[in-house]
Amino acid sequence: MERKRVYTFGNGAAEGRSDMRNLLGGKGANLAEMNLIGVPVPPGFTITTEVCTEYNQLGKDYVTGVLKKEVEHAVAGIERLTGTRFGDKENPCLLSVRSGARVSMPGMMDTVLNLGLNDEAVQGIAVKSGNERFAWDSYRRFVQMYGDVVLGLKPESKDDIDPFEEIMDTMKEVKGIELDTDLTVDDLKTLVKQFKQAVKERTGNDFPSDPWDQLWGAVCAVFDSWMNDRAILYRKMNNFPEEWGTAVNVQAMVYGNMGNTSATGVAFTRDAATGEDLFNGEYLINAQGEDVVAGVRTPQQITLEGSHRWAKMQGISEEERASKYPSLEEIMPECAAQLIETQQKLEDYFKDMQDLEFTIQDGKLWLLQTRSGKRTGAAMVKIATDMLHQGYIDEKTALKRCDPEKLDELLHPVFDKKALADAHAITHGLPASPGAATGQVVFHADEAEEWAKEGKKVILCRIETSPEDLRGMATAQGILTARGGMTSHAAVVARGMGKCCVSAANNLSIDYKSRKMTINGKALLEGDWISLDGTTGNVYEGQIQTVDAELGPDFTELMEIADKYTRMEVRTNADTPHDAVAARNFGATGIGLCRTEHMFFEEDKIVPMREMILAKDEEGRRRALEKLLPLQKKDFKGIFTAMDGYPVTVRLLDPPLHEFVPHDEKGQMEMARVMNISYEDIHERVESLLEANPMLGLRGCRLGNLYPEITEMQTRAIMEAALELKKEGITAIPEIMVPLTGIVYEFKNQKEIIERTIQQVFSENSDSIDYKIGTMIEIPRAALTAHKIAKEADFFSFGTNDLTQMTFGYSRDDVAKFLPLYLDKGILKQDPFAVLDQNGVGQLVSMAVQAGRSVRPSLKCGICGEHGGDPSSVKFCHRVGLNYVSCSPFRVPIARLAAAQAAIEG
Ligand code: ADP
Ligand code: MG
Ligand code: MG
Repeated sequence: MERKRVYTFGNGAAEGRSDMRNLLGGKGANLAEMNLIGVPVPPGFTITTEVCTEYNQLGKDYVTGVLKKEVEHAVAGIERLTGTRFGDKENPCLLSVRSGARVSMPGMMDTVLNLGLNDEAVQGIAVKSGNERFAWDSYRRFVQMYGDVVLGLKPESKDDIDPFEEIMDTMKEVKGIELDTDLTVDDLKTLVKQFKQAVKERTGNDFPSDPWDQLWGAVCAVFDSWMNDRAILYRKMNNFPEEWGTAVNVQAMVYGNMGNTSATGVAFTRDAATGEDLFNGEYLINAQGEDVVAGVRTPQQITLEGSHRWAKMQGISEEERASKYPSLEEIMPECAAQLIETQQKLEDYFKDMQDLEFTIQDGKLWLLQTRSGKRTGAAMVKIATDMLHQGYIDEKTALKRCDPEKLDELLHPVFDKKALADAHAITHGLPASPGAATGQVVFHADEAEEWAKEGKKVILCRIETSPEDLRGMATAQGILTARGGMTSHAAVVARGMGKCCVSAANNLSIDYKSRKMTINGKALLEGDWISLDGTTGNVYEGQIQTVDAELGPDFTELMEIADKYTRMEVRTNADTPHDAVAARNFGATGIGLCRTEHMFFEEDKIVPMREMILAKDEEGRRRALEKLLPLQKKDFKGIFTAMDGYPVTVRLLDPPLHEFVPHDEKGQMEMARVMNISYEDIHERVESLLEANPMLGLRGCRLGNLYPEITEMQTRAIMEAALELKKEGITAIPEIMVPLTGIVYEFKNQKEIIERTIQQVFSENSDSIDYKIGTMIEIPRAALTAHKIAKEADFFSFGTNDLTQMTFGYSRDDVAKFLPLYLDKGILKQDPFAVLDQNGVGQLVSMAVQAGRSVRPSLKCGICGEHGGDPSSVKFCHRVGLNYVSCSPFRVPIARLAAAQAAIEG
């Protein structure tokens, strides 16, 4: 049988279902499902995502050829259900053409509405509706949208002027009017003529008047948009494969622009910013399509309660609110009631917070889209736990609903309360995406990117954002817009990114040309500092200090549920008691990596450390190590105390020694004085430490093998600290870790020294404690000979930073030279230093675990590279049977959730 390429829906029936989103795209699948559950949806059809792939491989002619019969048949179905005819003069059928990938994707083709209109059909619509203005308003919109998105007249950059906007602005100026709703029928007729003229001038062709030409043009434009730059960039940022493709949805029009009994809007079944179980949304009377989010007029609230809240936030009196911005509940109570009922039905059915689009045509409600709504990290956690309590979902679903990466937002800073008390709010807007941000004003997305590259913190200030601004938004600390609402582009995207955003700030005007904005009469230039509070909507002048976020009971509950299902432990990488405490508060159950070298950089330790390195013989080294011993012991006591009762993996000295010594004359003079030798001597010793390739040079356990006294001192410091704490009632569980083992004998020699020292310390103190001695696996050879090393080692800790470096042969310090290009060209799909390369490096990990456990079944295995905090890598670690992952303190909750999800997924 021929493959089915078109799926129809309408009037309570549908060929598709919501679980067919891969084939029909998210929008198409849910349009079908809404039909099936009795929600009013205009009839239409979906061309599958597979056709998009065919289109890219076999071309336009082939695809339009094979689609023709099915599409004609489906259009006939719409005609039947609407009692109209596509291409008819008297009773024309008008359509919308919309893109829809399996996940919602900015960068895809904008929707074309009112398709099918031409100079004759517009008359038919006018007569049939008895509303000439409406007919011409629709026609004007159609020529503009089709011209912009299908014929490509829309300017690339948002700062360039859209030719149609320009024509319309001129018209409004000449006529002295402000709103598009003030345009008369004659104005609209003139606009259509001028718009078509602009099309002819720019493209050299007449605007297509044949509805079928219009339809095929729009369908192909949707497929083309799958391969446009913005869509490609978005896919790359999110790791979505090109093969997915987009579906095309064609649907009968319903008209929100038919006059004052018509409207269009968007709504959320729960609060997308806070998660509060409160239906909310915005609408505009006599409007169509994206007028609500485009900010052409000030959108109004659907519910009365929401309207009151909004007015309060905007500082608008009740009188003004009720007369100028009434809620839908007040002006169309029946439609509002039906909408409230429908949103509940959709949420009950899909069992998740829904983001919906609706249109009211002459008092009748139609749903145009429903999908799981984007939400902030805080809302994600609250909605998951609320829905669990409300019986919508079970614990496992609640865990799966939460994106580990998004927890990061909850851990984000808020303003320091004291600093905030002194701060002066210069205006406020809508709290579009929570969090606190402070930075320098920039007005253009590309500049935000450049400034951020220079290490500056920026706030991107725009009249309104658009998908072109995506990259700039991603690099900014926060986003401030002059227009828009809670559902405008900036708001939705910022929430998705977990970025602070204030939209529709009062009395803010921006002049891109002079790079200046004015807030309540106060001028702010590019580079000036401002601060945003995305939770209250306040905007402050100057810099305000931020502090860490506080975590609420929902978060705690979610983490407790996670721990119920998890098999792996989550530890942390911490070198200071401060970090260790932070990690414990986030639920870490041990330290997987304590880097001792970081301790040496502190003031009192660096001088004896340098003395040790620069000593010319063992005796000199021992003298310096003696000075270091009590200082190291103190450090370890701090860490062990912070981790009382939990294991602490202490890694012995690892980096190349030249990293510690002074390279400037002043520092070398100082060392000469301290060590009482000549400057020339010091200089010569520093020079002698230089290596061509330090990362592959004298470092790791090679140091301890060359200078066993270093290993001795560190072991002694660890064990003496642990024994002293034991007397104070604090339980230290040290795990001594040898870095950079490549050959089993390197480890064996070190282990002997460690064991001997431990026994000495035990007998000196007539006391003992439990301990482990293990090694890092970070050299491919160690992974390949894991069965030998495991005979000697109590544990393996995979140092995946070095293991990645050495497996790929990419120097971590030089990788920036070619990695971006590799990612760009698709040679690498992801940065292997951020996301574990499961096929290569992961293979070594998996092999080493198996080989190690074959000789020592109790071998404890963990990972301590950056990857320990990356959700997909954490899941991999679960699958290959690691006992724990270890990551930086702020990633601990993320790893805990990812570990639980891995266990659930099995
Ligand atoms: P997006 O993915 O940007 O939301 P959509 O395809 O959902 O794009 O549509 C953009 C706008 O056009 C929405 O406001 C939607 O409600 C409106 N729209 C789409 N199809 C129709 C239709 N058949 N009748 C009326 N409005 C429509
Ligand atoms: Mg769109
Ligand atoms: Mg939509």
